[in-house]
Amino acid sequence: MLSIRFAIRRPLPSSLDVLHPHAVNYCSVSAASSASSSSAAAAEADRCIREGPRNDWTRPQIKSIYDSPLLDLLFHGAQVHRHAHNFREVQQCTLLSIKTGGCSEDCSYCPQSSRYSTGVKAEKLMGKDSVLDAAQKAKEAGSTRFCMGAAWRDTIGRKTNFNQILDYVKQIRSMGMEVCCTLGMLEKQQALELKEAGLTAYNHNLDTSREYYPNVITTRTYDDRLETLKNVREAGISVCSGGIIGLGEADDDRIGLLHTLATLPTHPESVPINALVAVKGTPLEDQKPVEIWDMIRMIATARIIMPKAMVRLSAGRVRFSMPEQTLCFLAGANSIFTGEKLLTTPNNDYDADQLMFKMLGLIPKPPVFSAKDSDAENIEEDALSSSG
Ligand code: SF4
Repeated sequence: MLSIRFAIRRPLPSSLDVLHPHAVNYCSVSAASSASSSSAAAAEADRCIREGPRNDWTRPQIKSIYDSPLLDLLFHGAQVHRHAHNFREVQQCTLLSIKTGGCSEDCSYCPQSSRYSTGVKAEKLMGKDSVLDAAQKAKEAGSTRFCMGAAWRDTIGRKTNFNQILDYVKQIRSMGMEVCCTLGMLEKQQALELKEAGLTAYNHNLDTSREYYPNVITTRTYDDRLETLKNVREAGISVCSGGIIGLGEADDDRIGLLHTLATLPTHPESVPINALVAVKGTPLEDQKPVEIWDMIRMIATARIIMPKAMVRLSAGRVRFSMPEQTLCFLAGANSIFTGEKLLTTPNNDYDADQLMFKMLGLIPKPPVFSAKDSDAENIEEDALSSSG
């Protein structure tokens, strides 16, 4: 059963209508040639636009979308994106590490693990003034979501710190921003308390496929991660969950990750797609950088199979040029992290991001606090698209 509301903002086109609008000349060249180049990306994008999101995907179906010719995949990712979202809006999120380093886990990509010599020092939880000051600055710089990250396995036995974080959530929410946390594994009760404090979203990435996962992390299981996502979802908090590419995984693992995300009981509200930033001292320090083509393939596939999700161009963006990021937005990415750092690794320059928004005609996405706000926003957009 389809469980995600899908806002259609324009009259439903047939797949041929989609090819027509401003391209009558080349379309009329040969209907046969367009049919012969039909790909799984084209067929599934068309179905998605007609029927809305689904979460009964099979892995072979996702593989055929992922394996579609890249330009076709990019085109159809863009097509779905324009039907499910205002294509000009990109959400700006700011991520702050409120408790850095000294983590007991062994995530092999992470410089904050205490098991690796990366030069990242273990710190205590940041104080209230510094956190609120950072949130205010992020808001002034255009961010609508403030994410707080703590390098912990979980929050069990950290009652004082957890209560402090609940207070940060309340304060930042009252500043008119969406609030997200990533604090490790979460139990039911803690999820409920975070919801009560006003938390918008909780980030907990699956990282990779179930099969490849033990090559990356051994100190907690894939099922542990899924359990946290369940607790978050059942508490009524939006789930933010995605993965990292460039860990040494095969294409099939990327497909496996996307399959797990797209077959959750409800699609994650946000799906971060990270490109590994290889940090010296971690077991993955010698991994080759991810190619932009791999990012585009992941983003466009995620967009087609989870049309309403915010697909977030996350870690590794710093390595991509403006034209490369442009292709990611075209493929369906509609959210970025802004700010000097992404936890401990460098991020894109603020001025360069502003210039990119101006150059591409992008506008910051306003915050959404409830289903009611989201409905109002959709109605507004419907009106816009019908008047345009
Ligand atoms: S990714 Fe998170 S859980 Fe894993 S080592 Fe880093 S801080 Fe710890």
